[in-house]
Amino acid sequence: MRPLSQCQVLLAALLASAAVVTSTPTHAQDRSAERAAMVDTIKSHARSVPSALGAQRIDPVVANVMEKVPRHLFVPEQQRAAAYQDRPLPIGYGQTISQPFIVALMTDLINVGPGDAVLEIGTGSGYQAAVLSPLAKKVYSIEIIPELGKRAASRLAELRFDNVEVKVGDGYHGWPDHAPFDAIVVTAAASHIPPPLVEQLAKGGRMIVPVGGPFSVQFLMLVEKRRDGSITTRQLLPVSFVPLRGGRAQ
Ligand code: SAH
Repeated sequence: MRPLSQCQVLLAALLASAAVVTSTPTHAQDRSAERAAMVDTIKSHARSVPSALGAQRIDPVVANVMEKVPRHLFVPEQQRAAAYQDRPLPIGYGQTISQPFIVALMTDLINVGPGDAVLEIGTGSGYQAAVLSPLAKKVYSIEIIPELGKRAASRLAELRFDNVEVKVGDGYHGWPDHAPFDAIVVTAAASHIPPPLVEQLAKGGRMIVPVGGPFSVQFLMLVEKRRDGSITTRQLLPVSFVPLRGGRAQ
């Protein structure tokens, strides 16, 4: 073997450092190990909730999606380091991205299938919509704060969650043009279950909605519309959500 010239050594060193420079950020941005750890935390959290909930084992399909969606890209720059901790984080305008366990639980409880149209009220960061996207045929999401809605819409488009449509408006009234919905998820707490959303739920559909005042205890409620059109509601667990704002929400 020929001894390397000084120039070749220099070139090799440059290439090695270039490899470090190009591979480190990609790896750091990927953060798949942190996501896998987050999903483990979610699974063990689920095992500790009352068995009557029927969500002690998060559906592996939901867990798998949450292992892929880059939550760190849905939070502001200064929150990125904490993106895979199992807690809500501020997203600006006094709003929060929900705790990953709650996102998993709500997604699990509405049983989304590949042919389903899903309505989300409270787009916020767009993260919950991104988690629903691979599970559903179409996701419609409504956000009342224009800046958040626009930001989430462009983030979802950039990340190619192409079956998500976001609109700015008051979600209390639902989205009649696209009703009925096979599943509805409300990610802000209402003082009561909004009747227009019950109306827009398909027969056989499920809605998950936190109900309660901003300074009192709120409960996650599961609303089901049976095939015969009758409604059942179940009170699940105590939660803490930002309030649902808008016209008749109070
Ligand atoms: N699902 C979001 C969490 C958002 S927090 C996420 O994954 O990041 C709740 C959001 O509901 C806030 O952004 C808030 O502005 C929005 N919101 C409150 N009242 C609303 C209403 N009446 N219609 C639509 N969005 C509403």
